[in-house]
This record gives sequence, C-alpha cells and structure tokens, in this order.
Amino acid sequence: MDRRSLLKSAAVVAAQSAIWPALPSLAASPPCADAPKVLRRVRPGDSAWPKADSWRKLNDATGGNLIPARPLFAACAADEKTAACREVLGNIRNPFYVGDQPAGTQISGWLDAWTPAPSAYAVKARNTADVAAAVKFAREFNLRLAVKGTGHSYQGTSSAPDSLLIWTRGMNRVTLHDTFVPQGCEGRVAAAPAVTAEAGAVWIDLYHAVTTESGRYVQGGGCADTGVAGLVQSGGFGSFSKGFGSAAASLLEAEIVTADGAVLVVNACNNADLYWTIKGGGGGTFGVVTRLTLRTHNLPQHFGAAWGTVKAKNDDAFRKLITRFVDFYAANLFNPHWGEQIAVAPGNTLTISMVCQGLDSEQAKKAWAPFFDWVRASPREYAIADELGAHATDARHWWEIAGNPSMIPDRRSGAPSWHGWWNGDQDQVGAYIHGYDSVWLPAILLMPEQRSRLAAALFAASRFKKVGLHFNKGLAGAPSDVVAAARGTATNPQVCYAFALAIIADGEAPAYPGEPHASIDLAAARKDAHAIDLATAELRKAAPSGGSYVSESNYFNPAWQRAFWGMNYRRLYMAKQKYDPDGLFIVHHGVGSEDWSPDGFTKLEQDPDARLENLPFPQ
Ligand SMILES: Cc1cc2nc3c(=O)[nH]c(=O)nc-3n(C[C@H](O)[C@H](O)[C@H](O)COP(=O)(O)OP(=O)(O)OC[C@H]3O[C@@H](n4cnc5c(N)ncnc54)[C@H](O)[C@@H]3O)c2cc1C
Repeated sequence: MDRRSLLKSAAVVAAQSAIWPALPSLAASPPCADAPKVLRRVRPGDSAWPKADSWRKLNDATGGNLIPARPLFAACAADEKTAACREVLGNIRNPFYVGDQPAGTQISGWLDAWTPAPSAYAVKARNTADVAAAVKFAREFNLRLAVKGTGHSYQGTSSAPDSLLIWTRGMNRVTLHDTFVPQGCEGRVAAAPAVTAEAGAVWIDLYHAVTTESGRYVQGGGCADTGVAGLVQSGGFGSFSKGFGSAAASLLEAEIVTADGAVLVVNACNNADLYWTIKGGGGGTFGVVTRLTLRTHNLPQHFGAAWGTVKAKNDDAFRKLITRFVDFYAANLFNPHWGEQIAVAPGNTLTISMVCQGLDSEQAKKAWAPFFDWVRASPREYAIADELGAHATDARHWWEIAGNPSMIPDRRSGAPSWHGWWNGDQDQVGAYIHGYDSVWLPAILLMPEQRSRLAAALFAASRFKKVGLHFNKGLAGAPSDVVAAARGTATNPQVCYAFALAIIADGEAPAYPGEPHASIDLAAARKDAHAIDLATAELRKAAPSGGSYVSESNYFNPAWQRAFWGMNYRRLYMAKQKYDPDGLFIVHHGVGSEDWSPDGFTKLEQDPDARLENLPFPQ
C-alpha cells in the first residue's frame, strides 16, 4: 500500500473553533417534511420497481445515456478467450481504464467488508440536467441511489447493488480563470485566480491545465487519478498539503443537485451551510456535485524529494533510529516545505519517501544532511538498504508524463496525452484490502518531553505491521492561513493539530469478482487484519483520541462519527436533515447513515431529534 516511490531516477524524484455556529432548528427543515416516510427502497423484482416504459423515459431524458452496469469481468464469465475478456484483462491494472467502466471500482474488495457489485442501471451523465433527471427519477420511484466519479472509494461507497448509479466520469471539462468571484459574492469576496472542473475530472487533468500549461498550483490529491469531486468532499490531501492545505479548503464554489432535484450554486454567500458540508463532509451524502471551482496558488519554483531505506541491525538500534528521526523531523522537517511519508516496518526498516516544495536541491540536501550523516556514521548499527538522497527540480514539470520515469502513461488509444499515474501507486490499482486504519497524531507528541512516547509507540506498532506517517495529511506545521482555512471546513478539526496521519494497511493482488484465476488468501488476510488492529492499538497508546481521515480509514470503526468529523458531526447531521431528510444519499459511515440499514435500503425507525440527542457530542 505504498503511496509512492519518488522521483529518484529522474533526479527529482484545541480545540474546535470555540464559537459554535448557529444551528438551524430541525423543526424549520424545508420541503419533504410531509412526504410519506420512506421505510424501504425498492429492488429489481419488487412490484414497485419502475416498468420498462419509465426507464425508457429516463433514457430519453438523459439523451440515451441510461446504460446497464455489468460487472467488470462479465465478459469473461463464459469464455476467457473472447476479445472482450482479453480487453478487460489487458487493462485492469490501468486506473484510468477502471475509472472509465460503469461498474469500475479501484479496489477489488475488502475482507468481511464489501465486494464490488454493479448497480441495476447507470446514468452516464453528460451534464447537470442529466444528473437532475436521475435524482428526480430515483426519488419518484423510491430507488437506492449511488454516485460515482472514478471509483476510488476504499470503503466501497460508490458501489451499491440494485441501485441506480449516477456516474459523472464523462463530465470532465476544466476551465481556468484569471480572476474568479463566486456568484452573489461580488463586492464581498475578493477576486482570485481559480480553476473550475466538472465533477468527473481527475486531478491530473487539473495539474496539467494549472501547472504544466499555466505555471500555477492547485491543491488536489497525491494520487493523480483520483476524482476531483470525491476528494474535495473527503477533505483531500496531496503531497504538498503541508504548504497549501486540504483540497476542500481551496473550494470557492460548487454546483450541486440536491435530493429534491434542485440545482444549487453554493459558496460563502449562497447556501453557505451546504457549501461547508461538501468541504470534507463526505461524498455521496448531501447531493451530486456537478462542478467545483478551486482557488489556484502561485507555483513554487521547485518541487523535490528525499528518499532511502535504512535497516537497523537489531531492535535497540532501531529504537535509537526512530528516536533520532523523531528529533530530526521536529527540528528540520516540521514546516510547510516537507510532506508525504516515512514508514517503519517489521524487519527494523525505516523507509523515506518524502517530498518538498519551495526548496532547491541544495536546500533539500542540506535539510537532510544531519540525519543522513548520523546514519552513515554508524555502519555497525545501520545498513543502507536503498541509497539515501534528496534533490529538487523545476516544479512546472512535476506532473509531465513525457520522459518521466516515475509515471506510467495511459497508453490506450485516444487517451489524453497527460494521463498517467505514479509508479508508486501501481500496487494499489485493484488491490484487495485485508485491513486498513489511520490515526491523526497530535503535534504535541513532537514536544521534547513527549517524543519518547511517540518513538515507543512507533517501535511497538512496527512489531506488527508497517506504519506509514503521512506528514502531508496533518496540518500542524502549515502556515497559519492554511490552518485557518482548514478550520473552516467540515473535516475533523484534529487535522489542524496533527503533524501526521499514521496509516497502517495491507492487502493483496487484485481479486475482482469473476476475475479469471484470481483468488484471495483468506488465512493471510485475517492474519494481516489482526496485525493491523494490534499495530493501531499501539499507536493509540500515544494518541488515545486520535481521529481518522474519512476516506483513508477503517471500514469497521465503530466511532466513525467522532473519528471522521469530531465536533463537526452534529452540524453535519443537521444539514443532512435539512437537505436530504429522506436519505436519498446514503453511504457506508456517511453522515446520517446511522439512520439506515447497512445496505442503505431500509430506514430505521428513529426520530432525528432523538438521534441528535444520542449523538456522542456536546450540544
Ligand atoms: C488508490 C487510491 C489513492 C488515493 N489517494 C488519495 C490521496 O492522495 N489523497 C486523498 O486525500 N485521498 C486519496 N484517496 C481517497 C480518495 O480521495 C477518496 O476515496 C475520494 O472520495 C475518491 O473520490 P472518487 O470520485 O475518485 O471516487 P468514487 O469512489 O467515485 O467516489 C468516492 C465517494 O464520493 C462520492 N462522489 C463521487 N463523486 C461525487 C459527486 N460528483 N457528487 C457527490 N458525491 C460524489 C461517491 O458516492 C463516493 O461516496 C485515495 C483512494 C484510493 C483508492
């Protein structure tokens, strides 16, 4: 599950705001209040399932874009030798191909959690009107609705059997603005350079338009093929988030189709409560986002990286190495320049795959010299398993595919020339997950008197599993305006006080349902899942109330509301009652999902006011 092997061969390689916002009263919730209570969504075969004529009308309304969503490997069911089956087999490790399939999920399943299963039908939306038609249809016929961009949900939240899928991948135009003022904000919000993307665009589309072609920067995801709409609604972190913040914090405006089929423009001046929810409140929950406009930033002159693997020759030496690294990180790297990750693993290895922004090669090398010199000075204790180094390059070429050995191009005919993915992300394409967890580590652990606790927890956790520290996914150490902007999003406020998100995960080669010759090693999977739990428990000794990043987290987290959103959950839950009181948009562990059965088909009989009272957060 390594995120990235960096560009070495290319020589680059508190507390929540004290002021609790005024909350709308549930009694004041608009429309739908007197609609009949939906208790169960209909499935194919139910007498209330729409008749052929109704589907035909939806197909007409969406320009012929109502399509059946067949399983990814349907073509291989009868015969593996057909051209159609060979095409899937030949492309299934290409994340752009997977994203281009109506039933495509970038993960092939998760032990005891979820298995990819296609919707009954999909609307391959071309525009907002198609999306609105599909939302109204699902509402009219009481269907389970699913929304998908590229299918990058680890938790399978864009895959729902027997549902109607709204699939936005085909809506992917990108437009740059020299100056952008959100609608209705004239005279109130300063004009800013920005980029607008339709919901189905992926980050490499924006990096190409904004950085490669125009010499500016937009904060998106580290994985170049993740979807813009899903990632912004997750909060969203990229390699340089320590300098620029979360993707959600850069959102200036969005267009969203709500559960009643209305098309709303949301920003700081219009529907500000809904605008806030989609800045980290979780995808597939508040409506279908059709368009997003994000602030762009000045591009630093350089992006760079540091890399290498050190193997300690015994446990004591490894403890010392971790302690030394924690001291070194706190003194030299805990700042807006450095992001991405290190990992400590069984076998006593420390792997460095970090990136930097705003430093030239000399500055990057100088930053790491004290640590590298210390390691090299003790050959009896440490072996350098992979060379240690640091370097920087012209930032404008970071996401260029041509001539970049760290990126794999999408070689399909007709694919945009700028589409590619990082080598380091290849192993994740189609992976089958054994277990996954994450914990935000508070920056207080970097204080001199706390560091031994942190080092001890990392060592103890590394006895069970590899632990990745993703420094770019904790915003402590970022510039103060970046932290303030993150505080204005729905993401758990802990992100502002965390220096890193620790991720512990493992899995195996892709094993999609129906994939020829694929099999799951269940014994290994259960062993891994257990080891991940044990490792996480060790980390939690140092960070007992550490939250978790909604989109990179444990499917089975029983305290998900608190973990993903902390004190923001109550406000999100109330917004859910206001904009989607009938739960048309339900995803696993999404806001309001506690009111529904796990499959999202049956509403549990619970009064939202009573539910609010039982939420584990203060009023
Ligand atoms: C291989 C991999 C790499 C990743 N890398 C990163 C990373 O670098 N940084 C990071 O922060 N996260 C990362 N993630 C997590 C990822 O950002 C989230 O899962 C994100 O939600 C994916 O959005 P998507 O559109 O690509 O995926 P999808 O599975 O299509 O959608 C994810 C969720 O968003 C909803 N959704 C999608 N489109 C819309 C829409 N238009 N309107 C409303 N809801 C919508 C879906 O219903 C679903 O619940 C990664 C995930 C994977 C699998």
